[in-house]
Amino acid sequence: MSKGRTSYDVIVVGGGIAGLGVAAIVSAETGRKVLVLERFPMTGGRMMSYEGLPEEGWRIDTGLHFVELGEKSCCTALNTRVGKEVAWAPFSESVDIWNGEAFVNIAELVPMTKEDRNAFAGILAGISKMIDGDIELWDNRSFEEWMTEHIPQPAVRELFTDLGMIMTTIPNAIDMAAGEVLYIARENLRKTRQVLQASYPVDGMEGITRGLVEAILENGGEIRTNCEVQEVLIENGRAAGVRVPSKNHPYQEEFRITETESLLADRVVCALPIYSLSRIIDFDPRTSPLPRWWLKRITDIRNEITGLVGFMIGLAEPVVDPGKRCFLTALKTKHAGLPFQAFPASNFSDRVAPPGKQLLHTDIVCEHAEASDKFKRERILNLLWEDLKEMFPGIEKKLEWKLPYYVDGCDGLARQPGLVGNFKPALKAPGIPNLYFAGDTWLGRGLAINSAARSAMTCADLILDDLRREFGDVIP
Ligand SMILES: Cc1cc2nc3c(=O)[nH]c(=O)nc-3n(C[C@H](O)[C@H](O)[C@H](O)COP(=O)(O)OP(=O)(O)OC[C@H]3O[C@@H](n4cnc5c(N)ncnc54)[C@H](O)[C@@H]3O)c2cc1C
Repeated sequence: MSKGRTSYDVIVVGGGIAGLGVAAIVSAETGRKVLVLERFPMTGGRMMSYEGLPEEGWRIDTGLHFVELGEKSCCTALNTRVGKEVAWAPFSESVDIWNGEAFVNIAELVPMTKEDRNAFAGILAGISKMIDGDIELWDNRSFEEWMTEHIPQPAVRELFTDLGMIMTTIPNAIDMAAGEVLYIARENLRKTRQVLQASYPVDGMEGITRGLVEAILENGGEIRTNCEVQEVLIENGRAAGVRVPSKNHPYQEEFRITETESLLADRVVCALPIYSLSRIIDFDPRTSPLPRWWLKRITDIRNEITGLVGFMIGLAEPVVDPGKRCFLTALKTKHAGLPFQAFPASNFSDRVAPPGKQLLHTDIVCEHAEASDKFKRERILNLLWEDLKEMFPGIEKKLEWKLPYYVDGCDGLARQPGLVGNFKPALKAPGIPNLYFAGDTWLGRGLAINSAARSAMTCADLILDDLRREFGDVIP
């Protein structure tokens, strides 16, 4: 190691739930010297939340978020593993769907006969008994195909399509990976006896990541924000550390080349989405330290993502019954013509809005190309506002503020056949034994937050196994 260069046991690139999770477990369970590097001023990544924004008394997340399974979720398990708790608001009571005139309970939207209802119950019972191997067989096949084989009743198929849309944010069953829908449904049925319910931490998304940050710091780990990693150093077939900006000279922006210094580590974890990876690892097959087949696989799938465009809305008075803990959705809105979701977070937690006021999270699910184009995005936002005025009469008059937002890759990789379960990229780099990955675009299952939390636990276990192999059962 070069003289004067700091060294760590593990450097984690990215302070989202996955990076914080890996760092928290490794520091809590081994006491090793761990450093998390995050490019933004705050940790949390796509789960960042802000207190006092846009005004005193409000707490908002970066867009609409709900977590499946709440206290029985992987993100609770991740916190528990490092001795921390997440305070959850009670589960949602209903999923209501827009029928063009009103939000109605999902069961009312699809008229079902007694036979249909019996068939629905039978199918749920069957899903709850599926074993992992049964589900994996469907990871590369469409949910439409699964329904054709298993559900003769059109009404029941329609109901399952609606549920699948909420789980995958993909509107058509033909594009949904059957394995993922079946897995999410099975876990929810086994743990909550419902196909899907929404949970929300009383402190917003920060309520999930705060304990991980505390665990890292309490166990001697370090977190450095405002530090955008420029490159993962790979020397002689091993990860050696990372390069980070060394100084900000006045013309850095214009010159476009950042001056860097090295931070050395025995192990490096890239806890950032696969679509950001080529910013820190060379992807040119002629010079990259990673094999050509792997680079091609990552390049082929890295843009298989969906986008979200929406408004976070603060209301002087509620537009959704404040006593109702619901998740609202539409398969296709009238104006934007796209799938829609809304979540009145203040109906779940009284800590996110001032008394008597309502915080409404809303979004429209669209293709990455539409969300990332400024002009298309603007048009979708205008159409969404027209939809919101019809769905929530009086919203204009009650409006205190509304913040538009957009995000690419909201849910990690699109949950399409061949992009879920074991088809997702593995957590260890091929040929580089001390380079790991974690996050919702890497191996893991469940809705995105839980998938990221699960991948953090699996990645940490791989690191612990490697340490044991190197140092024996007692990790020094
Ligand atoms: C608007 C929105 C709505 C969502 N809704 C839901 C929902 O309802 N339910 C659900 O389950 N999931 C939802 N998700 C997805 C969920 O937020 C993500 O699955 C989860 O946060 C992913 O965590 P992660 O740690 O894998 O990645 P990230 O949170 O993206 O973390 C990666 C981190 O790496 C940092 N980083 C990147 N490059 C560098 C670099 N070069 N150097 C240093 N740091 C770097 C980033 O700043 C980021 O903090 C939503 C996401 C968004 C944005």
